[in-house]
Amino acid sequence: MIVTIDGPAGAGKSTVARMVADQLGYMFLDTGAMYRCVALLAQENEIAWENQDAIGELGRTLAYVAEQDKVFIAGEDVTQTIRSPEVTAAVHRAADNVQVREALVNLQRQLASDNNVVTEGRDQGTLAFPDAECKIYPSASPTERAQRRVDQLNVNGGSVTLAEILEQQTVRDEQDEARELGGLQAADDALFVVTDGMNIMEVVEHIERLVRIRETDSA
Ligand code: C5P
Repeated sequence: MIVTIDGPAGAGKSTVARMVADQLGYMFLDTGAMYRCVALLAQENEIAWENQDAIGELGRTLAYVAEQDKVFIAGEDVTQTIRSPEVTAAVHRAADNVQVREALVNLQRQLASDNNVVTEGRDQGTLAFPDAECKIYPSASPTERAQRRVDQLNVNGGSVTLAEILEQQTVRDEQDEARELGGLQAADDALFVVTDGMNIMEVVEHIERLVRIRETDSA
């Protein structure tokens, strides 16, 4: 069974999706990490974003491996680097490249084939897996999402403010919604989960219940 979890950038979505996958014993696909890998490679190799074919080639040849909660490119652990502010600010350029999208959607389908999967991103229920049996669209108000992110970043003594994060988040939401191919969009048959006021465990349990119902329905 394929479970898609799409939604805007916001602290918690990946964590929730990963925990749901763990609880269900399903494979987890963090598709944002794949776009981040392409962005990192473009930056490291100083390839101009305008060079669509060269950026597309990075997507087609990406030696992506995810193990537990680590991400590797050709054996190199890039788990931390792909979350850097530089990569986060540039990743939309990689995600805007149609060739990259095609290559990564192919990779996602390959990894998912014949597996029980929870896949998390922006276009998983619409473009990558339109026939997925269970599509979840978690949402929360912009302020709630930004506050969660602030709490996450400040947990180790950081000092980011809600206003800063809210501003960055608004820009990312607009970029993700405006994308012509693979833009952020809820599938028509997605189940909306409004997570305001819920903690991570409550969201995980709620989504898990929805998946279990679908599992029973399709048995
Ligand atoms: O989920 P995460 O924040 O790591 O995603 C990074 C970026 O990758 C997103 O802002 C979006 O631009 C892009 N992305 C995408 N399609 C996906 C997953 C992520 O375009 N399925």
